[in-house]
Amino acid sequence: MIQDRFFSRYILSVVTITFATFCCFAPLGNLNAQVQTPSRADILRGEYGPLRANNDLLYYHLDIRVDPVEKSLKGKNTIRFRMLKEATQIQLDLYEHLAIDKIVWQGKDLMYKREMNAVFIEFPESLPNASEQQIEFFYSGKPKSQGRFGGIAFQTDPAGRPWITTACEGEGSSFWWPSKDQWRDEVESMDISIAVPNDLMDVSNGRFINKVDLRDGYTQWNYRVNYPINSYNVSINVGKYTQFGEKLGDLTMDYYCLPEDLERARNQFAQTRPMMEAFLHYFGEYPFVKDGYKLIQVPYTGMEHQSAVTYGNGFRNGYGGRDWTGVGVSPKFDFIIIHESGHEWFGNAVSAADVSDMWVQEGWTTYLECLYVEKIFGYDDALRYTNGYQAKVANSSPIITERGLHQTPHQDMYFKGALFLHTLRNVMNDDAKWWSLVRETYDTFKYKNILTEEMIELFNKRFGSDLTPIFNQYLRHKSLPKLELNFDESKKEVAYRWVADEADFAMPVRVGSRDAWQTITPTREWQTMATTLSKNQFEVATDLYYIQVTKSPVSQ
Ligand SMILES: [Zn+2]
Repeated sequence: MIQDRFFSRYILSVVTITFATFCCFAPLGNLNAQVQTPSRADILRGEYGPLRANNDLLYYHLDIRVDPVEKSLKGKNTIRFRMLKEATQIQLDLYEHLAIDKIVWQGKDLMYKREMNAVFIEFPESLPNASEQQIEFFYSGKPKSQGRFGGIAFQTDPAGRPWITTACEGEGSSFWWPSKDQWRDEVESMDISIAVPNDLMDVSNGRFINKVDLRDGYTQWNYRVNYPINSYNVSINVGKYTQFGEKLGDLTMDYYCLPEDLERARNQFAQTRPMMEAFLHYFGEYPFVKDGYKLIQVPYTGMEHQSAVTYGNGFRNGYGGRDWTGVGVSPKFDFIIIHESGHEWFGNAVSAADVSDMWVQEGWTTYLECLYVEKIFGYDDALRYTNGYQAKVANSSPIITERGLHQTPHQDMYFKGALFLHTLRNVMNDDAKWWSLVRETYDTFKYKNILTEEMIELFNKRFGSDLTPIFNQYLRHKSLPKLELNFDESKKEVAYRWVADEADFAMPVRVGSRDAWQTITPTREWQTMATTLSKNQFEVATDLYYIQVTKSPVSQ
């Protein structure tokens, strides 16, 4: 699927590139590096250029053999697409460390040119606008693991058996298979056929179809994905898995773990069903019912692979056994199960169209953790859990990065993103309306790839006011809005205003005393209100709005 609205790319004289960890599993830190101009590699990777935009992906069939001894891959991806413009060339992607064996179209081998990780494919004749085309892209080689989760990692489990997993959100799908490696365009469906030695199993995205004994020591595991899927979500999990499962209405929920961990997995994964019920309470449905839900043990922390969520939290609550937001709430549940599964709604069903807007994946999913806590443990825990995230926010760079350069945003997109949504709930100050907007956001954008502007448009309609300056302040500037309060106790009044980067920033906020909040709407201009409260008694609902507050005069 393709979404064209609002897309543009800006070239910058100075670009800040942030290396954060991706998705899931809580980021551990990030580095900031300054580069003068986007490199050719940045543009090849990140730009939705004319040779990507001239076609719309329809379908992939990834059909490969995985050799655990050689640590190699060999096979092909059949790629079907519709031309959106007449052209003789398209851009696909495959990392340089893998060989292209051939690319076939209508029985003919095609010419191609490789430039870094991009592959420019030449057709012998012009492909007409609106025509459907299919190519077979054959490749092979030994991918070199890199990044925090390896991209693709050939490892062994504690018993010494092969354990091969992929997690390539940062590296990109072309790290291990030929694909159109970007976020804007998704295939509408996909088949995945993975051949592995007979004593191993592959678990991939989608509905398990069958396994076929290839009679050469390998068995092919076939899965069908019935929905649009981000290419970075496509995954293999090859190991000596044992499986158990349950059903929730029509939804199949299947669990895969190492045989030695079966009992621990049964105990820990019992959290999945109530979690699913909590998310169904908010969203009404699981987005990928035809494909089912799977939770699969892996040797890294976890990743939201669509309908095949991976799990490596050690069968412990919290995050790796730690109290993740430090307020005593996360030890009550398994952070990785909840966070990674939450991505099924935001990240997988509702997806960002550019890495720049990855807060759609991570800010929303972090907020879904808070919704889960509210449903299961109650409002007070949710409020504490949500505000526990304040300590993790740096406010050192904007959450939305420049488009078209595949720049992963700062990790604030997780925590500040969630706190921003929590703030909007309190700006709305009508929970029934808020829950219906949360649901509508999912319903409106599911199976689509969107940019923040589209979400703002929906929110503006439902709030009945222009929230653009509020979205911009939280997402496109680094600083929090600051509420300045200036007390004149002799006159029994307080002057107030926002200090914010956005000229039209005006956000209501509750102030006064906790048992009788008054809602004021400061702007960047000073206003005054009468109050009988002293400077010290006068409170601001900083647990409902993620803001900064200063009170003056200091000496009073
Ligand atoms: Zn995540």
